[in-house]
Amino acid sequence: MKSKNGAYLKKSIDTTNKNALKTREVKIKTFQLMRGFKDILPSGEGPHWSHLRAQADAVAQKYSFQRIDLPLLEVTQLFKKSLGDSNEVLENELFSFVTAQGNDHLTLRPDFTPSIVRAYIEHNLASLPQPTKFYYRGPVFRYGRSQAGRYRQFHQIGFELIGEENAASDGEILLMAYNLFRKIGLDVNVEINSIGCAACRTEYKKELAGFYKTKKGQLCKECQRKLFRNPMRLFECKEIGCVSIKGDAPQIVDWLCEDCQKHFMRVLEYLDELSIPYLLNSTLVRSLDYYSRTIFEIYTVEEQEQEKDLRIALAGGGRYDTLIEQLGGKATGATGIAIGMERVVTKMREKEISVPEVCVPSILLAHIGETAKMKAIRLFEKLYDEGFPITENFVRDSLKNQLELADRLKCRYVLILGQKEVIDNTILIRDMEGGIQEVIDVNKVGVELRRKLENRSS
Ligand code: AMP
Repeated sequence: MKSKNGAYLKKSIDTTNKNALKTREVKIKTFQLMRGFKDILPSGEGPHWSHLRAQADAVAQKYSFQRIDLPLLEVTQLFKKSLGDSNEVLENELFSFVTAQGNDHLTLRPDFTPSIVRAYIEHNLASLPQPTKFYYRGPVFRYGRSQAGRYRQFHQIGFELIGEENAASDGEILLMAYNLFRKIGLDVNVEINSIGCAACRTEYKKELAGFYKTKKGQLCKECQRKLFRNPMRLFECKEIGCVSIKGDAPQIVDWLCEDCQKHFMRVLEYLDELSIPYLLNSTLVRSLDYYSRTIFEIYTVEEQEQEKDLRIALAGGGRYDTLIEQLGGKATGATGIAIGMERVVTKMREKEISVPEVCVPSILLAHIGETAKMKAIRLFEKLYDEGFPITENFVRDSLKNQLELADRLKCRYVLILGQKEVIDNTILIRDMEGGIQEVIDVNKVGVELRRKLENRSS
């Protein structure tokens, strides 16, 4: 029973009075979803999620990216080392804890890439023919301030290509993401920049710090502090004062070394060749330290036209040529992208993109009575395995309930097995559209159903 405020009330026996067993009501508190977390219900967003997953699987298969599944938990040090030492914001967002049992310092992955690189090094995957192409999807965790479009547990689809420095690999990753967005009906644009290699950035950061020092009075407190650690991080600030001056800042593309410049030009040529729409964004930076050269984010076309700092990216990624070495492997070129599933599903729903229903049975097998139920269960297994779009309602014994379900699912046919049919070795087929009902030999039910379904589709 539910009380007015939603708590469940349970009747408990008052044992203090043995003669008259009284009952009193005890409130049982119900549990609620934690802030920043989300349930994906079959009656809600479920079909959009299934569609997105299926389309991502198909894209991965097309480009021979193999699925990799990794633990949610890794030792904290893996992520700290990947972040580098200049990103305390992300470090504060790590979902970290110490286990009570073993005093282990663990963290729920905030991103897949460090775990993929850990696995690549640990299993010596560099010894296989290169490049290695990975496809993943699953939850990631960041303990950020939860707000619209920002969850503490969210899901990513990603493609990672390790063992190749060639600009074509950046092109391939972007082509895959672009194709996936097109398949699910979203019009997107890529925003792209090159942040060069460590050598280009050293010179550029000096220049940038010099520029910002002349504008120090206009910067927020946080940016004034960051200025001495990594001036490129100032581009991420959303404070009005900081945003208003970043357009005048020196642009990294003017500071790229010859190799980085050539690499970037090649990436852009690939995008032109593949007709992937893109926009150069000289103040695009990625919040993770391990990126080098090409970096990108993907936005819907409408969102790209909005105020830059109010937009929410659907995906982001880039090259991480130094991460493998940073985590103890050999220097290896690598590139990848992570697509935020929550954000993509939100966009799909906003745009009312319809998705196929997960499974549409057109036949329901109903039973009347216990003996018939046993036989019906066996018959259901057989017909399902033969490929019929059939469903059942074995937990409900009333024929009325079973027929109501058939109605709700819009099933065209209901098979009814009762006591009499079990004895006669027959079964009833009811056409829910015409209301016509016929009795047939139970051994011929498959042939009969196939004939009816084929007639319908022809
Ligand atoms: P990032 O590597 O942080 O750029 O993340 C890649 C993608 O994951 C982003 O483009 C978003 O679509 C998605 N994403 C990142 N953070 C969140 C979050 N807190 N909640 C939901 N989606 C997120």
